[in-house]
Amino acid sequence: MAGSVHVIDHPLVQHKLTLMRSKETSTSTFRNLLREISMLLGYEVCRDFPTTRIAIETPIAPMMAPRLDGKKIVLISILRAGNGILDGMLALLPSARVGHIGLYRDPKTLEAVEYFYKVPDNMGDRDAIVVDPMLATGNSAVAAITRVKQSGPRSIKFVCLLTCPEGVKVFHAAHPDVPIYTASVDERLNDKSYIVPGLGDAGDRLFGTK
Ligand code: URA
Repeated sequence: MAGSVHVIDHPLVQHKLTLMRSKETSTSTFRNLLREISMLLGYEVCRDFPTTRIAIETPIAPMMAPRLDGKKIVLISILRAGNGILDGMLALLPSARVGHIGLYRDPKTLEAVEYFYKVPDNMGDRDAIVVDPMLATGNSAVAAITRVKQSGPRSIKFVCLLTCPEGVKVFHAAHPDVPIYTASVDERLNDKSYIVPGLGDAGDRLFGTK
């Protein structure tokens, strides 16, 4: 089964992404832009959420009005850069629960090793949205989704700001059932596993650590 990739090509998203890519952009501007763009990505991710009609009265007339159908969302951030997307998504989905997963790359085996995992109870009732700004080699995203699947959520979507053909291929080879939402599928990965043209190290740019 081929996995789906939703590229959100809305002009506002693309404009903000351009500002984020520029090396002239400061940490605080980068952080604000990531928050704003994450709301716009989140808006698209929620597009297929079911609604039911409920009876309300406006000041003018009674009506049957749509309301989100009691979906229980859990946003799961892949540490640490995922937290930048989390902020914007939580502004849009304030009652969502939040989980975190921390992974590092073993320098010998190059495998993703989990150092932290905390998600809410009752994952079986929840729809998971896993977030990480960069889907590059795909290794950590694949490991994160594998782990989240063990918790048994009702559904899983993956949201990133940027990806590349190599990352999409690795991700969907392992998880063809998980749709990817992104602002861009860039050209390629370089030999240091950075996305080209990309935006550099998302964590460093977000937290000002370099
Ligand atoms: N992680 C990043 O932060 N940037 C890349 O380009 C690839 C992975």
